[in-house]
Amino acid sequence: ATREETLGFQTEVKQLLHLMIHSLYSNREIFLRELISNAADACDKLRYAALDNDAIFEGDSELRIEIEHDAEAGTVTVRDNGIGMNRDEVIENLGTIARSGTAEFLKQLSGEQQKDARLIGQFGVGFYSGFIVADEVTVRTRKAGTDQGEGVEWHSKGEGEFSVADIERQAHGTEIVLHLKEDAGEFADDFRLQNLVRKYSDHIEVPVRMPKTETARDEDGNEIEGSETVSWETVNEATALWVRPKSELTDDEYKAFYKHVAHDFSDPLTWSHNKVEGKLEYTSLLYVPGRAPFDLYERDGARGVKLYVQRVFIMDDAEQFLPLYLRFIKGVLDTRDLSLNVSRELLQQDPQVEKIKSALTKRSLDMLKKLAKDPEAYQTFWNTFGSVLKEGPAEDHANREKIAGLLRFSSTHTDSATQDQSLADYIGRMKDGQEKIYYIVADGFNATKNSPHLEIFRKKGIEVLLLHDRIDEWLMSHLTEFEGKPFVDVAKGDLDLGEVEDEDEKKAQEETAKAKEELVKRVKEALGDEVQEVKVTHRLTDSPACVVLPEHEMGYQMRRIMEAAGQ
Ligand code: ADP
Ligand code: MG
Repeated sequence: ATREETLGFQTEVKQLLHLMIHSLYSNREIFLRELISNAADACDKLRYAALDNDAIFEGDSELRIEIEHDAEAGTVTVRDNGIGMNRDEVIENLGTIARSGTAEFLKQLSGEQQKDARLIGQFGVGFYSGFIVADEVTVRTRKAGTDQGEGVEWHSKGEGEFSVADIERQAHGTEIVLHLKEDAGEFADDFRLQNLVRKYSDHIEVPVRMPKTETARDEDGNEIEGSETVSWETVNEATALWVRPKSELTDDEYKAFYKHVAHDFSDPLTWSHNKVEGKLEYTSLLYVPGRAPFDLYERDGARGVKLYVQRVFIMDDAEQFLPLYLRFIKGVLDTRDLSLNVSRELLQQDPQVEKIKSALTKRSLDMLKKLAKDPEAYQTFWNTFGSVLKEGPAEDHANREKIAGLLRFSSTHTDSATQDQSLADYIGRMKDGQEKIYYIVADGFNATKNSPHLEIFRKKGIEVLLLHDRIDEWLMSHLTEFEGKPFVDVAKGDLDLGEVEDEDEKKAQEETAKAKEELVKRVKEALGDEVQEVKVTHRLTDSPACVVLPEHEMGYQMRRIMEAAGQ
C-alpha cells in the first residue's frame, strides 16, 4: 500500500458512531440491510453510467452482490461489482455525513440509551452501521473504468480516525470486510445471513449470492480432502415483481403476489400497477381485496401499504400513504423520494409523503371506478367495504365528488335493501323539471321504505334514495351536491318539489291551507310546547300526519349517536 494517510472523522460521524455502538445493541442485524442496500445502489449507479459508456463494465456486466463469511476469522464480507469509489470519494463518503438533517437529528438525542436506541434505529445509519457488529472495518474499492492501480483501501476501528491507502485492485466495485466483535460471532453463519438477506433484501433486483461449498465423496461416503468446489447460489428472489413491466406479468403472478402481501388466501377483486417518473418517482401496486379483514373497524387495525425505498424493504403497514377511508386497500409502494432511513415518525413530517398519498388516493379511486364497470364484482366490493368508503366525503373534501360517484344506495326505484344504485343512475332517471336528489335517512331499511314522508314522492313517481346505514346521516352531512344537483332530505324543512309541481297544484295547496287554518290552530294548542310548528302538508297521501324536522336540525340518527356518546 502506498500514499497511506490517517484522517479524523467529522465530528458528527464520531457522535453517530459512538451512539450506534452503544445503543443499537438489540437491533444489530440491520447492518446487513444497510450494506446490501449500498451495494445495490452502487450496482444501480454503474448500470446507469454504462447506459452511455458500455466500456465501464470492464467486460463484467452481470451485476451482483456477494456475501461471504469466515467463522474462524470472525469476518463477514459484503462485495459488489458496482460503481466503486476513487480515493477522494472514499474520504468524502466514508469520513463525513453528507445527509442533510443529520446534525439536527443528533441534537434530538437525549443521551438516554433506550430512548436514543429507538430514535437511531428509526433514523437508520447507513455505512457506519457496520460498526454495530464490527470492531474493525476494511473497505477495498476501485472505481469502475479506472486503472487497476487506482484501488483504495480504507480501514478503521471506528474510534475517531480512519486510514486510506492506494492499492492494486483487479475487480472494480467495493468489498467491505467486517471483523466481527467477539459477541457478534452469530453473524458469521450461513443460515443467519441467508435469513437476513431474505428478510430485508428479497425484492432487491440485484442477485445476492452466497458461496456453497460442495465436497466430493469417495465410494464409502467419506469426504475427499481437497475436492471442495465452491458454487455461488442466489439467496434472494432477485426480482421485484412491481418493477417488472406490466406486459410481462400474468394475472396469476399478480394474484400470487397479492396473497403474499395481504396475507390473504383468496383472490383480490382488482389491482392497479403504476410506475411514475418526474417530480415524484414511485411505483405502486395496489389491490382491492375481496374479503374484509377482521380488524377493518378497529382503531388499531393493520392498514396501509408495504413500503420499499428503492426496492429495499422498509416497513409493513405504512398507513401514511392512504386515507383512512381507503384502509382496505393493500399493496406495495416503492419510491425514490424517501430516504432508506425513514421511520414512521419521520414519515409524518415528510412533505413528499403527502404528495404520494394524494397520488395514491387518486389511483385507488380510479381503480374503483374501473371496477364499477363490472357490476357483479363491484357489488362484492360495495357489500364488503361500502360503509368504509362512506367515510370518504367527510375525510377527503378534495375528492368528494369522485367518492360520491362510487357510492351505491338503496332506492325507491328498486325498493330493495341491496345498495346497488349509483347517483348517476338516479340522475338518469330524474323527472323533467326535477333539480334535486331526494333521500331519506332512518334506522333500518324498512323504516326508510315505509316512511310516510315518501307518500307524495311515490304518488308523483319521484325516486328517493333510502339510506339506512348507521353512517348515512354523517355521510349526507358532508355531501351537499352531486353533478350540480343538491341533496334534499325529504324529512326536513319545507318540501319544494321545484318544477315537478305544476301551478294548479300549488294553488290548490294554498287553498287547502287556508281552509284548514282553524284545524291547525287547534292541533297546535293541543300539542303545545311539544312542537315548534304545525303546518298543513302535501307530503302525505295516505297518512294523516307526520313529524318533520327543521332543515338544519340534527337528524334522528345523529341525535342517537350523540346521546350514546353522552352529549
Ligand atoms: P446513503 O446510502 O444514505 O448515501 P451510507 O452511509 O449508506 O449513506 O453511504 C454513504 C455513501 O458511501 C453512499 O452514498 C455512497 O456514495 C458510498 N458508498 C457506500 N457503500 C458503497 C458501495 N458499496 N459502493 C460504492 N459507494 C458506496
Ligand atoms: Mg446507504
